[in-house]
Amino acid sequence: MPLSHRWTLTRYLIEERRRFPQASGDLNALLLDVSLACKAIARVVAFGELGDSLGQAAMAQGGGINVQGEEQKHLDVISNEIFLRMNGWNGHLAGLASEEMELPRQIEGAYPRGKYLLVFDPLDGSSNIDVNVSVGSIFSILRAPQAVVDSGRDVTEADFLQPGTTQVAAGYAIYGPTTMLMLTVGNGVAGFTLNPNLGEFVLTHPKIRVPEDTPEFAINSSNSRFWEPPVKRYVDECLAGRTGPRGKDFNTRWIASLVAEAHRILMRGGVFLYPRDTKDPTKPGRLRLLYEANPVGFLMEQAGGRASTGRQPVLGVTASALHQRVGFVFGSRNEVERIERYHQEPSGPDRGNPLFAERGLFRN
Ligand code: MN
Ligand code: MN
Repeated sequence: MPLSHRWTLTRYLIEERRRFPQASGDLNALLLDVSLACKAIARVVAFGELGDSLGQAAMAQGGGINVQGEEQKHLDVISNEIFLRMNGWNGHLAGLASEEMELPRQIEGAYPRGKYLLVFDPLDGSSNIDVNVSVGSIFSILRAPQAVVDSGRDVTEADFLQPGTTQVAAGYAIYGPTTMLMLTVGNGVAGFTLNPNLGEFVLTHPKIRVPEDTPEFAINSSNSRFWEPPVKRYVDECLAGRTGPRGKDFNTRWIASLVAEAHRILMRGGVFLYPRDTKDPTKPGRLRLLYEANPVGFLMEQAGGRASTGRQPVLGVTASALHQRVGFVFGSRNEVERIERYHQEPSGPDRGNPLFAERGLFRN
């Protein structure tokens, strides 16, 4: 299709806004600044070793270990700075929060404060960067509480602790062979491909739908000894293949990068599990609710897929801390619903189903 026939991200946002004549346009302007940050990060990532930005962050650069106790790469710090710099000035935000910062960031005094909150994982999958595997940036936009907007006061952690159902927009950019932006403003999911000549995101994947069924599942099986019985049961049944209770063969996938897994699932279906497990009882899951599970969950639900903790829809969870972790299962609707069903059914050797007792799937 000739380029002139395709919509740019700007046009998509304008056409979406026309459905809401009362909308101010602030959200569109904010999303364009977020997309600019993603384009800037895509350039830094693309230069790789040539750009002198790989490797561990030095303490002098404000890096080292982040608030999660995880190693911070130099690129994590650079990407965080790009997000802050490109979104802090525009007057649409009341505050920002990031994986890389323990506390919310205030809008600096010289700039006006707006009505939205931006929460982001500036560089997801950064542990994969040294092996040239796709990385990405994930973002979620919330409304600031009215009291914050009215008073113009500083934001606090509590202002960000909203359930994912309140998200106004969410998405991610993926820096792979091509740079893409996947976005929802609450009316389906649209995918844009960066045209490197124009520096524009161009709509290439309108109205993305996640297939309801899938033969692919993704889970870090090295944690299998820590899985809870419903997860063990699900994986055992998939592995049993055609001769097991599912009656069909499955394939496994594991990239260990949330953005890359979410992208594969948006493109062709699949189910991803990083469930709550017994490895470290202080951590209810691995992924972070506000800037990983919520935005990816919003995209999945808007594409007809499903996103869950295993026990409840992930978008229904109200965060109790900015960096809260959560068990996360998402993707093709019928598989996620099956996993939720397994969590509701009684489990253990006494769950009274002779079929499964006989197969020993629940033996500890
Ligand atoms: Mn991440
Ligand atoms: Mn990250």
